[in-house]
Amino acid sequence: MAKRALILVDLQNDFCPGGALEVAHGDEVVEVANRVQKRFELVVATQDWHPADHGSFAANHPGAEPYQVIDLHGLPQVLWPVHCVQDSDGARFHADLDTARIAKVFPKGTDPTVDSYSGFHDNGRRKSTGLGEWLRAQGVDTVYVLGLATDYCVKFTALDAVTDGFATYLLEDGCRGVELHAGDSEAAIDEMRGAGVTILDSGSIGS
Ligand SMILES: [Zn+2]
Repeated sequence: MAKRALILVDLQNDFCPGGALEVAHGDEVVEVANRVQKRFELVVATQDWHPADHGSFAANHPGAEPYQVIDLHGLPQVLWPVHCVQDSDGARFHADLDTARIAKVFPKGTDPTVDSYSGFHDNGRRKSTGLGEWLRAQGVDTVYVLGLATDYCVKFTALDAVTDGFATYLLEDGCRGVELHAGDSEAAIDEMRGAGVTILDSGSIGS
């Protein structure tokens, strides 16, 4: 019998409308997250959790602009507006998110020298956040993913889940994309599907 977990990716104020790195309609997925949680015995969350001197912030690179791509210690890095700084309001979960059933929160992006889109590993796969090991220790072999944003942290979390050997499902209506370029979310969905992620609507897992 498969043991399933739900992974809520970065449901934080800064990724919702009005936030520092807002995702259009990002707040709409909170309702989906709250609704589907009761279908799962185990719920975990990731939280983008940067120190103020994080290398992904354009503000920390004199002369650079947000959304420019630079080389950050050997990895291509999109520079972002300052967002999800540890202990800031922007880093907190959306106020409407039901957090009572979240068994464990996995902070990511805590190392100033490397970004971490995935909830499992940093972008260089140099360090683990502990998420994969923790899920395995609970006997989990199947994960369902939703959250923000489709074309970055959701995508890389789902791809890492597949790489790490989890049967992986994406709840597409529980995700919204940054869409730096039009079509990025659709391309991300295609990439996930191609890697072996099963794409579902939250309605298909019951309510
Ligand atoms: Zn970030």
